[in-house]
This record gives sequence, structure tokens and C-alpha cells, in this order.
Amino acid sequence: MPAPKKILIIGGGFTGLTAAWRLSADPRFSVTLIESSGQLGGLAAGFPLAGTSLEKTYHHLFLTDTAILDLVQELGLEDKLMWCESSVGIFRDGKIHSFKTPLDLLRFAPCSFLGRLRTGLAALYLKHLKNWRGLTRQTAHDWMRRACGRSAMETIWTPLLKGKFDGHSKNVSMAWFWARIHIRANSRSGGGGEKLGYFRGGFNVLTSKLEQEIRRRGVDVRTSATVEKITQHYTAVVSGEEVPFDFCIFTGPSPAFARLLPTQASLEDYAARLRSIDYLGAACLVFTSDQCLGDFYWVNVNEPEAPFLVFLNHTRLVDKSFYGGQYVYYIGAYLQPDEKVFSLADDELAKLWLHYLLKIFPTFDPARISERHIFRFRAAQHIAGTDYEEKIPDYQTPLPGVFLANFSQIFPEDRGTNFAVREGLKIARRVSQPPNS
Ligand SMILES: Cc1cc2nc3c(=O)[nH]c(=O)nc-3n(C[C@H](O)[C@H](O)[C@H](O)COP(=O)(O)OP(=O)(O)OC[C@H]3O[C@@H](n4cnc5c(N)ncnc54)[C@H](O)[C@@H]3O)c2cc1C
Repeated sequence: MPAPKKILIIGGGFTGLTAAWRLSADPRFSVTLIESSGQLGGLAAGFPLAGTSLEKTYHHLFLTDTAILDLVQELGLEDKLMWCESSVGIFRDGKIHSFKTPLDLLRFAPCSFLGRLRTGLAALYLKHLKNWRGLTRQTAHDWMRRACGRSAMETIWTPLLKGKFDGHSKNVSMAWFWARIHIRANSRSGGGGEKLGYFRGGFNVLTSKLEQEIRRRGVDVRTSATVEKITQHYTAVVSGEEVPFDFCIFTGPSPAFARLLPTQASLEDYAARLRSIDYLGAACLVFTSDQCLGDFYWVNVNEPEAPFLVFLNHTRLVDKSFYGGQYVYYIGAYLQPDEKVFSLADDELAKLWLHYLLKIFPTFDPARISERHIFRFRAAQHIAGTDYEEKIPDYQTPLPGVFLANFSQIFPEDRGTNFAVREGLKIARRVSQPPNS
């Protein structure tokens, strides 16, 4: 029996963990997984809160997330998954408006009546449209403005696009927007309400199970270790040490991969293409309190001057008994990585955001906060503009034996743990069964 081929997986998010899970089942491979942070889970990583684990950034699953739901089943974790009733509101004109049902849309007073009708028709059209190809080169901003009118843009769509894409909001492809609406609308259960999935014990239940299983199968899992370079000659430099491989899979952001490549003229065009994929960062403030703030799980903050995009009452989705009876809240924003939010001290950022929360909930009492945490990620969301399809990098890179599998290759869907699992499985298949084998 020949010696097993060495596979080096870079990144311990769901893409890397799923690829490791699949490849480690094959005796032809010996797998090493390298993660630069001190823990696994990537953007879905958890932290200890009230005796359990909570994600640093808000997370839930949709009924349509079949790749991750199949994995959950394969790992025997179905009993850990709960499906909970979601509720969505929009904060606009000093008030939270329910935005759960078509009737709520018709009652959404900040928008003109015609704007509400046009928005309802546009949503219906996008829900049933199957072929999104014709939308790729149109911007969501222009398409939605034509379909829904100025009033709906001002009160609903522009704040959402700006909140999600900051300065890139006018260039986002309508195909990306179609996928958001299409998936969301089709994920609703028969009764019209939306059910979202969450794990008893948080997403860490899945991360820990994957870690436990891959370690049991012999995967060498190294956290707090960073890949600094990848060479032309089947080696990577990991925290100063040369590690040989037969195959390497990089699952971090595309521009970060460009920085690992050897500096040579033949790779310059490829590296420039990777660098041309823009990413936004994300910042989340999490706090617990004994004060109940509102009846909605998710509130989009659609006032033009708001300093953040979303306010979430996590304990409107998941019962507060999981968190020692405390309410759990998130405040979140997507921003350019050079925005001041990324350099402000935690106390200053908390002051800024919590002060604005008083506008949404005038009775909010910061003195009743029992725990507060702030998390920032610099590459949290790639920008899918109208020319995005041309930028998407292939799995196969110009370096022999080296593959790229990350969320910038997902289009038109938005990134998510479901697609991370799907990409992890795809890249595992690609490595174990090369196309011409
Ligand atoms: C605010 C926010 C909310 C979200 N909400 C949801 C949600 O509700 N539902 C959902 O399904 N998804 C959600 N997502 C998306 C989801 O978290 C991601 O799509 C998914 O976790 C991506 O997994 P990944 O493995 O592809 O990438 P990542 O999680 O980014 O993992 C890549 C890993 O590679 C590591 N790495 C990079 N470079 C190196 C290096 N040189 N050496 C070693 N390690 C390296 C990084 O540290 C990182 O851990 C959300 C994301 C954000 C930011």
C-alpha cells in the first residue's frame, strides 16, 4: 500500500472542517488542518456565554440549507437542531414596523401605497423567477428602483443595500439580490411564517462534533498556527516551519491567498484578480440584559443616519432559559475594514451604538446590561458586483497541487454555513477524484 498523500487544509471554518471530514474518511490521505485563530469555526465561531456557547456573529439556518442539514444528519446531530418561529421588523420614522407577512408590507406606512404594492409584486416575481442569468449585469439598485419606485427605495431597499454593502451598495448585482429574496421566500413553511434553525448549544455543537470526528480519524488539527507562504514546490510555511504536502486547500479570503503566493511574474495576473475581489468587514456587539427589548427577532434599522444595520433579539428566536434567563442581543454592521469602527476602542464603539439604541427603545437601560462583548472580522462579506462572474477564481490555482475553496466562489447566493459545507464537500471530491481521473 503506497504512503498516504499529504493534504494540507488552510482554515478551520466550515469549508475547511467539512473538507477535512470528507477527506479523512479516505485511507489514501493523511490530513493536516491549520487555523490561524485560537479556535475553530471561522466566521461562525462561538464564545462562552451564560454557561453555553453563542456565535460571535448572529447565525441561523434556513429550511432550504440542505447541504448543512444533510451533514447534521450524517453526524447524528438532528436532535440538537431546533426550528423556531422568526419575526422581522423595520425601524423607520422612529418606530418598529412589523415586516413578516405580505399584509405587513401593505401596512408599512413610511412607504407610499403604490411603492408597497410594487414591492409586493416585485418580491412575488423574484420568488418565482428561476432563471437569474439575465440579472447578473444589472445592479440591484437600478432594478429595484425601476420595479418598486423611489419611495420603496428610500424607505426599504436603499438602507438595506447600504447597510450590507456600505460604499459598494450601488454596484451589487441584481442576481445576488434575486438569490437573497428567492431563497428566503422559498424557505418559508407552508403556513406563511418563517422558521429558522438553531442548535441547542449554538453552532459550536456542529464545530465541536466535526473537530472531534476528524481528530478521531487522525487529522492533525493545529490552531494558533498561520500559513505564511505557499511555494511552487509542494510546501507551505506554517508559523515559520516548512510543511510538505501533495495537495493543499486554502479556504480563507481570496486577497489573503494572493499574499501567500510566491512573488513571480507568471502569477502576477492571477494574484491581481484575487486582489480585485473586495471584502467588507463586520462588527458585532453582543450583550445580555434582564430587560426585554421588543418583540422581534430581527430588526433592520432603516434610518439613514443609523450607525448600524441590524438589531437582533436572539432570545426571540431561542428561549432565554438557554442563557440563564437573560435576554441576548446583537447589534451588527458591515463596513469597510478601514472604517473607524475597526479602530475604535470597545468602550467607545459600545457607547456610540448603545446610545443609538435609545432611539429605537427609549426605555432601554444600559445599567441593566450584565455582559457585553465586541467582535470584529475584517473579511466578512465579499462584494458581488455586476462584473463579479468574471472575477470568480477557479478551484484549481496555477500552483501545482494547490486549490482554492472559499465563499468568494459562491454566486449568486450569499455566503453562509450551508454553502461553506457545500464548497467543502465539492473541493474534497475534486481533490480525491481529479476531473481527468
Ligand atoms: C455578521 C455575519 C452573520 C452571518 N450570519 C449567518 C447566518 O445567519 N447563517 C449562516 O449560515 N451563515 C451566516 N454567516 C456566514 C457564515 O459565517 C460563513 O459563510 C461561513 O462561516 C464561512 O465559512 P468558511 O469556512 O468558508 O470561511 P471562514 O469562516 O472565513 O473560515 C476561514 C478560516 O481560514 C482561516 N485562515 C485564513 N487565512 C489563514 C492562514 N493564512 N493560515 C491559517 N488560517 C487561515 C481564518 O482564520 C478562518 O477561520 C454570517 C457571517 C457574518 C459575518
